Amino acid sequence: MAGAIAIDTRAVSKIFGAGTPQEVRALDDVSVSIFTNEFFTLLGPSGCGKTTLLRLIAGFEHPTAGSILLEGSEISALPPFERPVNTVFQNYALFPHMTVAQNIGFGLEMQGRSKSEVADTVSEMLELVRMGALRNRRIDQISGGQQQRVALARALAPRPKVLLLDEPLSALDLKLRKEMQVELKRLQHETGITFVFVTHDQEEALTMSDRVAVMNEGKILQIGRPEEIYNRPSDRFVADFIGDTNFVSAQIVSKNDSSVTLRLGDSVTVEVGTPHDSPVGQDVTIAIRPEQARIATETDKVVFRGRLIDRIYIGTDTQYRIDINRPDPFVVRVQNAAGFIDPLKSSDPIAIAIDPIAIQVLKD
Ligand code: ADP
Ligand code: MG
Repeated sequence: MAGAIAIDTRAVSKIFGAGTPQEVRALDDVSVSIFTNEFFTLLGPSGCGKTTLLRLIAGFEHPTAGSILLEGSEISALPPFERPVNTVFQNYALFPHMTVAQNIGFGLEMQGRSKSEVADTVSEMLELVRMGALRNRRIDQISGGQQQRVALARALAPRPKVLLLDEPLSALDLKLRKEMQVELKRLQHETGITFVFVTHDQEEALTMSDRVAVMNEGKILQIGRPEEIYNRPSDRFVADFIGDTNFVSAQIVSKNDSSVTLRLGDSVTVEVGTPHDSPVGQDVTIAIRPEQARIATETDKVVFRGRLIDRIYIGTDTQYRIDINRPDPFVVRVQNAAGFIDPLKSSDPIAIAIDPIAIQVLKD
C-alpha cells in the first residue's frame, strides 16, 4: 500500500525500571510505518509490548530511545491531549452515571467547543454507531456491546487523525465480537481515520486488518498483509502463532537465486520457488499449513508416507493426524464434501501430497 504515513516509530525502545532488578525491556528497537487511512493491527501474545507501543503513541509513556513521528513531525514532546490521537481502552472507561450522549460529548466540552457544536457532533456520532435511540440512557442501563459503541463514538468525536484501540473487543462474547469486528471495519471505512488496533487473537487480526505487525518479546517479527503473514511467515514464531502449522525438518540439497531444492524424505526432493539464505547442506525447518497439504491421489507426487493416527471431525473439515515417522504427527485438513463418508481407519497407510508453493522455508 502506498500513501502518506500517519505514524512512524523509529528504533523505539522502552525499558521499565532501568537499572533495577525489575528491569523490563518492553519494546526493543521497534520501527514501523503506519499509513494514513490504514487498519493496522499489532498482534502478539500477552506481555509482548502491544499496550506499551500504543501508550507511547498516545503520549502516556515516553520512549527510552528512538522517536515517534506523526505525519512526519516528531511528537515525543507533546502531552497526550495535544496529540491528534485518541484511545479506546479495553475496559471502555465510560462514566456510568452519565447518559450515552453526555459521555460522547464530555471530551468535546472539556476542549471548550460550543454547545451547538457539541450537540451536532454528538448526534452525528450517535448516528455513526447506531445508538441514536438510546442517547438518554445511562451507561449502567445499556449492554456491554452498546457500551463498546459508546466508547468508540466518544473516541471518534474529536475527529482524531489516529484511533488507538487496545483489545477493545476482548470483553464481548463471540457472537457480539464478530458483529463488532464488522462494525469497526465499517467505522474505519466511513471515517477515514487511521486505526491502530491491538489484539492477541490471530483470527481477529487476519479478518480485520489491512496490515498486521506480529510481535513477540518487545520486537516486531514481521509486518505484512494478512495473506502474507499467513502464507509466508518469516520465522517459526509467526508460523506457530498464526494458524495451525506442520513443522518438518528438511535439508537444502541445492539452491540458486530464485529457488531452493529440499530433501524431505529418503528419496523425495522438492524445489521451492523462493530463495533462502542458508547454505547447501544446511538443515532447515519448513512450515506447511494443514489445509494446504492433501491426501495423495494416484496421480499426485507423494511427499510423505505414513499411517493414520486418528481423524477429528470438525464440521466444515476433517483433520487427519498422520504418523510420518518424524517427531510430530503431520496434520492434513480436508474440507468435508456433502455426503462423503471416509473409509480410512486408524493405522491405514496414507500418502501425503504437498504443492511446492505450500512449503515455506523458515529463517531459523
Ligand atoms: P501487552 O499489551 O502486549 O500484553 P504490555 O505492553 O502491557 O504487553 O507489557 C509489556 C511488558 O512490559 C510486560 O512484561 C509488562 O509486564 C511490562 N510493563 C508494562 N508496563 C509496565 C510498567 N508500567 N512498569 C513495569 N513494567 C511494565
Ligand atoms: Mg495489553
